[in-house]
Amino acid sequence: MQDKLNTIPLENPDDSRCRGCTALCCHNLTLPAPPPATPEALQDLLWRLHFDTVRLCIIDGNWFMIVSGRCTFLGDDNMCTIYETRPEQCRKYNPPFCERYMNPYEVVFHSPQELKDYLSAQGALPA
Ligand code: SF4
Ligand code: SF4
Repeated sequence: MQDKLNTIPLENPDDSRCRGCTALCCHNLTLPAPPPATPEALQDLLWRLHFDTVRLCIIDGNWFMIVSGRCTFLGDDNMCTIYETRPEQCRKYNPPFCERYMNPYEVVFHSPQELKDYLSAQGALPA
């Protein structure tokens, strides 16, 4: 099947770099989350990090919020069930430029304390 996410056809069909992947790219909702410039913005980001499904990260100097979950269109076989009509955002994920083959994260914050410690060390705690 050449129209499924985990069997993206490459020059050599046996070299499909998605094959065997658990579809990591379909388990993270990544949204822009600007770095906190005010105490209120900091409180907002700290609040988000109270949830165990939320992380913040920095990629190429840009801040994002990652919400862990599973796309409802991901099949039990870890293949996209709407591959032909998948959203544009999904089309940006192609191996090897994806979580399976590279670590794009400069920093990942898992907790409010990690974020506070980072900003404090950077001298970037908003006042
Ligand atoms: S694009 Fe990357 S993360 Fe997504 S299914 Fe393929 S190998 Fe896995
Ligand atoms: S629509 Fe398909 S490719 Fe996009 S996240 Fe869902 S399962 Fe993955």
